[in-house]
Amino acid sequence: MPRRLAILGSTGSVGIQALDVVSRSPDQLRVVALSASSAWEPLIEQARRHGVRRIALADRDAAARAAEAWTDGEVLAGTDGIVQLITDCECDMVLNGIVGSAGLVPTVAALGEGIDLALANKESLVVGGELVTQLAEATGAQIIPVDSEHSALFQLLASERPGTVDRLVLTASGGPFRGMRSEQLEEVTVDQALAHPTWEMGGKITIDSATLMNKGLELIEAHHLFGTPYEQIDVVVHPQSIIHSLIQLCDGATLAHLGYPDMRVPISYALHYPERVDVPVKPLDLAAFGALTFEPADEDTFACLRLAREAGRVAGTAPCTLNAANEIAVHAFLAGRLRFIEIAGVIGETLAALPAEQVHSFEGLGEADGRARRRAAELIAERAAA
Ligand code: MG
Repeated sequence: MPRRLAILGSTGSVGIQALDVVSRSPDQLRVVALSASSAWEPLIEQARRHGVRRIALADRDAAARAAEAWTDGEVLAGTDGIVQLITDCECDMVLNGIVGSAGLVPTVAALGEGIDLALANKESLVVGGELVTQLAEATGAQIIPVDSEHSALFQLLASERPGTVDRLVLTASGGPFRGMRSEQLEEVTVDQALAHPTWEMGGKITIDSATLMNKGLELIEAHHLFGTPYEQIDVVVHPQSIIHSLIQLCDGATLAHLGYPDMRVPISYALHYPERVDVPVKPLDLAAFGALTFEPADEDTFACLRLAREAGRVAGTAPCTLNAANEIAVHAFLAGRLRFIEIAGVIGETLAALPAEQVHSFEGLGEADGRARRRAAELIAERAAA
């Protein structure tokens, strides 16, 4: 029997590549549910191609249009609709490829039902870390990371006994502005920020890679996924993106996970876990590279990484506030309403304005998320008016 999958965010970069992985393994994988934010036409096209009868769109207007256009299937609407899609589809695994903290509620729905989760939505763990991992433990659902660095760590850690791992080392490409100083970042454009040197990804995560916030979010994600204290997680810049992460062991050995940057590799690993199947990528040719290089991350110029580490250590609502402010700031940058160099400032000021509180419930996180979004938007409007 093929594994039944629900793919959330299926019209995004991870979703499209996941459907490619599924198409290559018809005997092992079958899609039974798809969701998107608002791209209803491509979603219906995907549903037809994969024989899916039920879809959900977070945007209610888009859902209404889809329902009119697609008469041979059912269209659910809103976040409630996505939750219903998950709970009703009798799937074995949910792939969450939603962008941003909008992915948290579907993550909770899947884990709450005891459904294994292939997690590409790092914000689920950044925002809801403790509660999300507690929920997975309570229901016995597994979280299998899709983020390339975390997939690498997950694979490296699989054969190690508890207590033998000293440090996790996350690699970072450094993004398109690696090596630049603050003065040089004053006038960078959206197009420059969207031109990632090694990974092809969606717009939001590509900007996060340029600010190094992506690595900051991944630091918090790794802390929750593997239960590792922040003091034992390092970041090293590795511009070629060939080493996806490393673990340092108590006997002096360091293990690394290597490969060309291609998201189909970690997606395939998660969807087929614990099996491995063929993925059509070219074998790694290290001699063709000649050298792999490494450098420390510049946290003075790229303050988002430092802000994320601090928010992670503070814990409570701080990572939620950090993430919400970042989502608002990146959106404003992409819309031409905020300069690249101001993104970190908006996030830092939002964190300063909203002291961290303890987290008791997912509802409380939703409120903290809303407060941070409003404060960040005010700070951006004040800058525009100045
Ligand atoms: Mg990553």
